[in-house]
Amino acid sequence: MERAAEPVDTWLMAKLFAVAAAIHLTIWGSFTVGFANHDVVAIWPAAGISLWACLRFGWRALPAVYLGDLAFGFFHLDFGVHFILISAGNALAAWGAASIIIRMCPDVMSLRTPTSVAFFVFAAALLSVFSMMVGTLVVAERFALPPVIVEHIAWRWFFSDLTGAVMVAPSLMAWSSQPEGMACLRRMRRPAFLTLVALTALSMLSLTALPEVLGHYPVMLLTMPLIIWLALRESTLECTLLLFVIVTTSLAITLNNVGDVSEQAFLAVQAYGFVIACTALVLHTVERGRIEAMRELDGERQSLADRVAERTVELRQRVDAAEAETVKMEQLALTDELTGFLNRRGFQERMRQENKRAVRYGYPIAVMMLDLDHFKRINDTLGHAAGDKVLKTLAAVTADMLRDGIDQIGRIGGEEFAILMPHTSVDSAVRVAERLRQRILETDWQLAEAPGLQVTASLGVSYWDPDMFDLDNGLCLVDEALYEAKRRGRNRVVSSVQFASV
Ligand code: GH3
Ligand code: MG
Ligand code: MG
Repeated sequence: MERAAEPVDTWLMAKLFAVAAAIHLTIWGSFTVGFANHDVVAIWPAAGISLWACLRFGWRALPAVYLGDLAFGFFHLDFGVHFILISAGNALAAWGAASIIIRMCPDVMSLRTPTSVAFFVFAAALLSVFSMMVGTLVVAERFALPPVIVEHIAWRWFFSDLTGAVMVAPSLMAWSSQPEGMACLRRMRRPAFLTLVALTALSMLSLTALPEVLGHYPVMLLTMPLIIWLALRESTLECTLLLFVIVTTSLAITLNNVGDVSEQAFLAVQAYGFVIACTALVLHTVERGRIEAMRELDGERQSLADRVAERTVELRQRVDAAEAETVKMEQLALTDELTGFLNRRGFQERMRQENKRAVRYGYPIAVMMLDLDHFKRINDTLGHAAGDKVLKTLAAVTADMLRDGIDQIGRIGGEEFAILMPHTSVDSAVRVAERLRQRILETDWQLAEAPGLQVTASLGVSYWDPDMFDLDNGLCLVDEALYEAKRRGRNRVVSSVQFASV
């Protein structure tokens, strides 16, 4: 377990080394840009890096912050013991401010609300006061400075740390709190680059035309519209990074070109940089809050729409299922259970439909009625179950003899079946009926209790004139023909035509 932790430590060491190097380079850059006065620069971005490093890595950042700061004095300035104290003051100030933030308002890390910005600025001010006190005291003691100069240095020190912390730490905090890290830099949108272009143009303008008329200070003020626009950008990293670039550039241009800067003017420019940074941060958090609220609302609206859609599908499915069930029930209500044929109601319904079709297209329909002979005897002698089996076999035989899907068969009584035969003449129907009668006669009913049982059927055949017959007495004629077949001795076919002529 302990071994596994080792590479993480190496990685941390590399990060801390990078922090030290960044602090060193930043200090070098601040001095190189050259708006230092009495060896106190206008902005001290190293304070921002130190604060962020302590927030991110805790006490482990202390040596890196301290050494990065100390190394600058060691390599670039006339190194003396006082640097050991000044760098210690800077490092402790950053660590102290970070500790206060972590303990009292960890929300600061995400800078989401104006309150978190306010607390962050408060912590940065504490940092600045502490490093200013240590630095000013050490410098005053070391160079035996008069009180007036000490006071000037104190104010500059305070503002340079404050502006540096307020302007740099938010970028780093935004960057390190983004899960995708560096990827967010690549996503920086075009307007951000346009800002840089505009900034360059502004610099050129300020270096040439404007100062002739207004002097150099208005360059700082000119950045205001840009900064407000920037504050309203969605990405915190984009906002804070460009804010830093704009403020430092305009500060550098101003301080480097006004010539002999008065003490108050220098402080005013510093203070303006600080105020502008705070304004942008507060505005940015308000805008972020608005965007997030809108997004939340959008999300809720979307999820509501999704829920409605889901529910609609669910209801549709239920309605479909209910409809299918109804159709099934209706079908069941129209079907005879034993034979699977239409029952009396179903058959009447089908007759109505067939009648309509026949009237419209003018084709003949033949009707057939079948009744088993002395069926009651089968029931009486062999039992009801045997009777049922005979009826089932009869259904299969009948269906087999007729045209599937064209002829309509209905069980309209116990052992009485009616058949509608569209596009069929009475003569043809008589031939079919005769074949059916013959087939019934020859059927093996496969009853164990009565092997070789012979069952006969009587059949009546008639024509159906759709124009002449209404549904109620549509079967009268064929019924009479069947009755005639029974009367003539059963096991025979009688057509109404024959019967009428008899
Ligand atoms: P006929 O030759 O005059 O038609 O004589 P029949 O005995 O067949 O005539 P009847 O109409 O008097 O009898 C029909 C019998 O059919 C009465 C009843 O017991 C029987 N039956 C009706 N429905 C069913 C059924 O679902 N199953 C069984 N097993 N028998 C049935
Ligand atoms: Mg019968
Ligand atoms: Mg009967």
